[in-house]
Amino acid sequence: MRATFMYGAGDVRVENAPDPAIQQPTDAVVRIVRSCICGSDLHPYHSLPVSEQGTPMGHEFLGVIEDLGSEVSGLKRGDVVVAPFAYSDNTCLFCREGLHTSCLNGRFWGRDGVGGGQAEAIRVPQAQGTLVKLPVGEDSELLPSLLTLSDVYGTGYHAAKQAHVNARTTVAVIGDGAVGLMAVLSAKRLGAERIILMGRHDERTKLGIDFGATDVVPERGAEGVERVRELTGGQGVHAVLEAVGYMNAYETAVGVVRPGGVISRVGVPQYEDAPIGFASLFGPNITLTGGPAPARAYIEELLPDVLEGRAEPGRVFDRTIGLEQVPDGYRAMNDRTALKVLIQP
Ligand SMILES: [Zn+2]
Repeated sequence: MRATFMYGAGDVRVENAPDPAIQQPTDAVVRIVRSCICGSDLHPYHSLPVSEQGTPMGHEFLGVIEDLGSEVSGLKRGDVVVAPFAYSDNTCLFCREGLHTSCLNGRFWGRDGVGGGQAEAIRVPQAQGTLVKLPVGEDSELLPSLLTLSDVYGTGYHAAKQAHVNARTTVAVIGDGAVGLMAVLSAKRLGAERIILMGRHDERTKLGIDFGATDVVPERGAEGVERVRELTGGQGVHAVLEAVGYMNAYETAVGVVRPGGVISRVGVPQYEDAPIGFASLFGPNITLTGGPAPARAYIEELLPDVLEGRAEPGRVFDRTIGLEQVPDGYRAMNDRTALKVLIQP
């Protein structure tokens, strides 16, 4: 089969790879029908050290089950399924608490002998716990929206859930990438009436308004903080959903959150040291939360909105490519000429 590997920063290649096969009785093999490139794939695209051995890429996919291990029940060959961006057994103590990214038998794609999703097929460990059957055909028009359940929609939803967003919550979303836009959609779904989107790409913030943003703040840094404070009577917001991951986004979050508020981070932090002392978080009683979304925990909850057309998260895809064009897809996302790239292997 053909599959995507990264050999160092900026070096993405589509190559021949062995066809995946069942190794454990809990495995499945899925032929990938749709995959995509994630904003978080751009972090290794900027910084991955050069290596002789490529890293398998891609962690968002849906497809058709081709083969099943003997211990997998509830699924059959031919089922159309979606996978979250980490595999999990869905039964251990962390999974039972809804924290599937900490599953005792789970891991992330593309490591420990498991392939990536930017490929023609993949071996899925813990298939019974990981894969969710979709009641659609592999030619459904809903596939782009269903694919967002793999990561970005669940990640945006996690940001909003961790921040306890509700109808009385004023929300600021930092970042107008796919996850930021999904955080807007999620805050709206949870009833927020005031959603301030901090982003400066017109096409993206327009989509953010469609998803429920009430205000757009294109300014960044101190100016952006000032603007959000003005919009909230000087107080700041109850909930900040931070969907970027860079230090300046964290500083903006600290700047716009109101006393007693929550900063919920789902952008993968590209820093280890950040202010948490009296002047930043402690003095105003700020809660800092967030982390890798347990996307698996949210699939059943978010699925009906997609199937019944109440939510169209698939609108974040603005380009579709074949597998051989994946290196171009990375370039386009890195150059910000594409918001999110859909891959049709
Ligand atoms: Zn588990």
